[in-house]
Amino acid sequence: MIPFQKPSTSNPIHQFPHIFHFPFYILHLTLSIVHFPLSIYLNFHTHTAPHEDEYAQPSAGLHPWHLKEDWPSELAILENRLQENPTLFVGECGLDRLCDTPYDRQQAAFEAQITLSERYERPLVLHCVKSLDDVLRLKHGTRQPWIWHGFRGKPQQLRQLLQHDFYISFGFRHNPESLKACPLNRLFLETDDDPRPIASLYSTVAQLLSITPENLNAQLWKNLHQLR
Ligand SMILES: [Zn+2]
Repeated sequence: MIPFQKPSTSNPIHQFPHIFHFPFYILHLTLSIVHFPLSIYLNFHTHTAPHEDEYAQPSAGLHPWHLKEDWPSELAILENRLQENPTLFVGECGLDRLCDTPYDRQQAAFEAQITLSERYERPLVLHCVKSLDDVLRLKHGTRQPWIWHGFRGKPQQLRQLLQHDFYISFGFRHNPESLKACPLNRLFLETDDDPRPIASLYSTVAQLLSITPENLNAQLWKNLHQLR
């Protein structure tokens, strides 16, 4: 994972959230910008400082890979951050059967973050590896939008997620058939921990979908406003 880097402070649209000092591996941090010209590409999820022509949606969460035994104390800090920053989404958080963190600890931390997402009415950015059944069970009855980040699955799994009202965020590594099968109003793009600019992902995806990168960007901004 790539450490969060401080971008140039000379750019007036960059301002840091107060949460910047929190460990980057626990909280996924990005920048807060109030107004967004459409020439700025929306990057839904990144662990690196956005390029100049990007806006990165800020979110904070306890990642299943890095859950310590005393995760409830980190959860309390997370709750403070949500109270301080009304634009912050919850995540990434979720379940991962392939990582070393005990699964019962993952489940407890994930459930606690679902509660925060609902209590503070913030969308939830989901990390899910080999734990779809548990995720669907926990999603049942929630009201906030959930965004499946870094989706690499096949169209069949995509359709299943769409039936459960997920939004889907795709990165550089994705299944092109799934991306083509995803309705435009359910789609996001992200760089995650890839240092490449998101503009190159927009042009790849726009070509795949036979639209212009500008129209694609405008649509994804619309999707973001729908979440809020
Ligand atoms: Zn990530």
